[in-house]
Amino acid sequence: MRRPFVAGNWKLNLDLSAGRALVAGVAEKLPASLPIDVAVCPTSIYLFPMAKAISGTPIKLGGQNCWHESKGAFTGEVSAAMVKEAGCTYVILGHSERRHTIGPKDADGRIHAETDEMIAAKVRAAMSACLVPIVCIGETLEERDAGHTNEVLRRQINGSLAGVEAASGDSLVIAYEPVWAIGTGRTATPEQAQDAHQYIAALLMERFGSDVAGDIRIQYGGSVKPSNVVELMKCPDVDGALVGGASLKVDDFVGIIEGTIRAKGLD
Ligand code: PEP
Repeated sequence: MRRPFVAGNWKLNLDLSAGRALVAGVAEKLPASLPIDVAVCPTSIYLFPMAKAISGTPIKLGGQNCWHESKGAFTGEVSAAMVKEAGCTYVILGHSERRHTIGPKDADGRIHAETDEMIAAKVRAAMSACLVPIVCIGETLEERDAGHTNEVLRRQINGSLAGVEAASGDSLVIAYEPVWAIGTGRTATPEQAQDAHQYIAALLMERFGSDVAGDIRIQYGGSVKPSNVVELMKCPDVDGALVGGASLKVDDFVGIIEGTIRAKGLD
């Protein structure tokens, strides 16, 4: 069985003292060694102090983004090597809030408007810097309602992993995050999640072959909470969770970690 992986995406939330308090609270409630991987992903300016805050705990660190070039005239950007140097093991790439997002928009209704091509360049940069990218994919409600879910997943997997060489499955994580379930309180049913994960696993087999693909973890993300985590994690192709809102509260995040351990029979 692939080692389950629960990561908290803090987005633009928690100041430094709240972040420190959260990891201290989570670590206090968990055993020193865990049968799953757990990470928190704070905003980039807090990565260095948060690396210190998680030291001595079983919690690892992830960035929320990185740039695809290693240096140069890219005001405001952070390279993959810098994210690594700050103490990260992982980096989230291609989150829907960077693919589509909210706020002042361009003519096509997007802000950051990251394309699959840009995301693939970032994935390659992250892997060169020995970071494990958590590559987010997922369909919008319109795409699901139009019956295009699998087509979108195929396009995003092939596009966001273009030119990516994975020597082993543990060098890459995929997060299936249906856009309609992110921050909405509306969760995919276990059947919907399992169908999508099974399809993604088949795409990864085509892309990387069974030896590598069989070890790539596929997280589910979209309104995961302690109350729904066990049913979702019981799905055989769901290998963990990428958690937004519920990762900001000690009891909720610990509940999700414990629920994952229980659902996978690792308690
Ligand atoms: C996310 O933003 O990756 C996410 C899954 O958010 P939430 O859990 O709040 O839906």
